[in-house]
Amino acid sequence: MAQPFKILLYYKYTQIKNPVDLMNEQRELCQKLNIKGRILISTEGINGTVAGLENDVDLYIKETEKNSELGQIEWKISYADEQVFPKLKVKVRDEIVTLGVKKTGPDVAIENKAEYIEPEELRELYDKNADFVIVDARNMYEAQIGKFKNSIIPPIDNFRDFPAFAKTLEKYKDKDVVTYCTGGVRCEKASAYLRENGFKKVRQLHGGIHVYGEKAEGKYFEGEMFVFDKRLHVPINKVNPETISHCQFCQTKITRFVDCVARTCDSLFVCCEECEAQHQSTCCDKCQQSLNLI
Ligand SMILES: [Zn+2]
Ligand SMILES: [Zn+2]
Repeated sequence: MAQPFKILLYYKYTQIKNPVDLMNEQRELCQKLNIKGRILISTEGINGTVAGLENDVDLYIKETEKNSELGQIEWKISYADEQVFPKLKVKVRDEIVTLGVKKTGPDVAIENKAEYIEPEELRELYDKNADFVIVDARNMYEAQIGKFKNSIIPPIDNFRDFPAFAKTLEKYKDKDVVTYCTGGVRCEKASAYLRENGFKKVRQLHGGIHVYGEKAEGKYFEGEMFVFDKRLHVPINKVNPETISHCQFCQTKITRFVDCVARTCDSLFVCCEECEAQHQSTCCDKCQQSLNLI
């Protein structure tokens, strides 16, 4: 059997003195090991998702952890039978994730981040029907195919809109609030933002949905988890999996994304195979008509 591809999702908030040096070092390392994906580096840390052959990725982990500024990292691992990234992008940014609240400087003080809630503990909250509010810190298009039971979904397409959405949560300032995202990187900032804005009892899901799937069998996660690579979604719930999304044309229950092919449109929408063929892989009449004009 062919060697599987190993996919890493990771982040670490830590002080990076010279992001450009680390960018060059990471790019060289990935090129040498034929690893592809996306890595963002800033003075506040590193955030990446990369994939390659298993042996190469194991070497990547070893080499990356040799960097004294990074040290140990919580790697989230999954597998696929092919490369899931088309290319390698290693970039320096002002921040590894951006809320965009402030024009200059960091949006939140990362040390204000909430305490972690472990996956097993979250599952227990559900099991005993505890009184808590669970907030998705991702975008709406990610949540439309999968989310935690009873979670509040922000109607946003960009993490920068999270602060505006947070205003609608004011009534929960004194309640137990749990935030979650894919692997945890957005929650570090979302939870710090909530705490800085008067939310008293916030906790963030340690390791995100990814680790919850491994440690708590994904119970109470409805649908699948959106991922930012060719796979687009992966199963999480091993206890009682279900499909929550519908083909936007015929309403068939399905977890399947299509990237609208119209040149001026970049919408990712849920669609079944039959409807995709019928609509020529476009999301709406307008986009379909634009194809026929060329
Ligand atoms: Zn359909
Ligand atoms: Zn479209």
